[in-house]
Amino acid sequence: MRIAFLGAGGTMGLPMARNLARAGFEVRGWNRSPDKAEPLADDGGEVVETAADAVAGADVVVTMLSDVEAVAEAVADARLDRAADGAVWIQMSTVGLDGIEQLATLADEHGIAFVDAPVLGTKDPAERGALVILGSGPGEVRDRLGPIFDAVGQKTLWVGEAGAASRLKVVINAWIVAVVEGAAETVALAEAVGVDPNLFLEAIEGGPLDLPYLRMKAGMMIDRDFQPSFRLALAAKDARLAVEAAERHGASLPALAAIRRRLEEGAERHGDEDMAATYLTSAGAKAGQPGS
Ligand code: NAP
Repeated sequence: MRIAFLGAGGTMGLPMARNLARAGFEVRGWNRSPDKAEPLADDGGEVVETAADAVAGADVVVTMLSDVEAVAEAVADARLDRAADGAVWIQMSTVGLDGIEQLATLADEHGIAFVDAPVLGTKDPAERGALVILGSGPGEVRDRLGPIFDAVGQKTLWVGEAGAASRLKVVINAWIVAVVEGAAETVALAEAVGVDPNLFLEAIEGGPLDLPYLRMKAGMMIDRDFQPSFRLALAAKDARLAVEAAERHGASLPALAAIRRRLEEGAERHGDEDMAATYLTSAGAKAGQPGS
């Protein structure tokens, strides 16, 4: 099966494309900055110059790009009509409710089957092929896509028609950004009042308040290590998508709106660092003193 992978040089896209190539699929990867996709060749994938080169004759087109604008732009250049007969487009980027509708319409216009399949998990699970795939789309293509999802993920959860997975994804993201902002303000408060934040983690260890994700992100804040697994700019985008989904459906979520503003503020200066860098907005001058 030939797979066109658009976004094959991203934090998520590169390891996903590499895992597909390792699993024996014929992968043609395209990335706006081609050098970032080069390691794909080590696993037998081919890095091509244009999105259209990747898509020509492909049985499956995967998009894993930052946001709906990037996906729409890449797909506009990709000539989806030149994919193989019966091809499927698997859209795995996080694009929100309006975004997924826009892309489903594009798929319709190009006569290509559309699967909405955002993922749960970050850089490390992507490298280990251990993502959780939230799949939604036409029942008749699901069996065919099983081996693809098995190559990049540990579990696929089929949740309905296209759009259903993106709705689940915004819900999960509301929780993720709440945990990260909560961790940021808790660590900043500890440091402000002269409590070692490691004591906070020690106090909750193993109890019902403990959480591996909190532990991971709080650890990055305490160590001032913001190597990106998930860029703060993208976390701000995800918070915006969750707020927009809430507004569209009349849910009043003021804490989520405040988190969105906070992440957007941090992203202005630290957008390319990990989302744990939202801590820097709360910590101010204290951030310069690890372990204080
Ligand atoms: P990333 O490292 O920032 O990569 C973004 C990708 O999009 C790169 O390939 C980039 O190309 C491309 N891109 C951006 N704007 C573009 C444009 N206008 N035209 C063409 N290509 C463009 O992001 P990521 O972390 O891999 O995330 C990708 C998607 O997965 C996002 O929707 C994100 O929300 C979602 N996601 C991420 C994680 C995570 O932990 N990282 C987890 C779950 C879901 P260049 O290389 O040229 O910049």
